[in-house]
Amino acid sequence: MEVQQVNGLKFYRFRCLSAFPEVVHGVFTRWGGVSRAPYAGLNLSLSVGDELWRVRENRRRLRETLGLKKLVSAVQVHGRHGALVTGDNPASDEELPEADILLTQEPGIGLMIKQADCQAVMLYDPEHRAVANVHCGWRGQVQNILGEAVGRMREAFGSRPPALAAGIGPGLGPCCAEFRRYREEFPPEFWRYQVRPGYFDLFRLSRDQLVAAGLRKSRIETADTCTRCQAGEFFSYRRDRQTGRQGAVIGLRA
Ligand SMILES: [Zn+2]
Repeated sequence: MEVQQVNGLKFYRFRCLSAFPEVVHGVFTRWGGVSRAPYAGLNLSLSVGDELWRVRENRRRLRETLGLKKLVSAVQVHGRHGALVTGDNPASDEELPEADILLTQEPGIGLMIKQADCQAVMLYDPEHRAVANVHCGWRGQVQNILGEAVGRMREAFGSRPPALAAGIGPGLGPCCAEFRRYREEFPPEFWRYQVRPGYFDLFRLSRDQLVAAGLRKSRIETADTCTRCQAGEFFSYRRDRQTGRQGAVIGLRA
């Protein structure tokens, strides 16, 4: 990933996505924004107890920084629901009802996943000029939400998985992804992702799930950045419990 700093906001970009000039994207850190502790500063979640005007101002700054007309997110529930975002759905900067996969072909719209430890995984189809953003926590991985997202891109846009580019964002790294009850929480095929007893490499798991969905390894980029370890840059629920959510955004240039 390469770092950018614009308007006091600091964010990262995947090289595999910035290769396409028609794509706008950013993996935002907590830098910038107007939220105060324990949400300081660029908190993008409306449902963690932060003041609404601060979250709205943070969202406005993010949208302006990327030059987008509209910024769309959803109430994330660790499910498999997807939402196809169009020019009129939703009408303005709004949260859609429950969805963990956002898709669009409409230029000027940013699809935002809010996260603090869960990964956001961005997908781009250069053949059909379509983007998707996926909220990918361990519960989503258990449900193979990445396979579901690729399937939805095929249905909605006719996407061919080998043509897709993917960026796996920051999340809990193998240093911190401890699951004491993994025998109950994870299916046996996940157990080989243990790096030491009880600790899992969830980045490699996502990469393998994308490859199983038909993507080429060479078109997948992984941030390999742990949100819990990087307190200065990222919110982490495991580290702080009461905290904000950073945003990962992808869209098509207006
Ligand atoms: Zn860590």
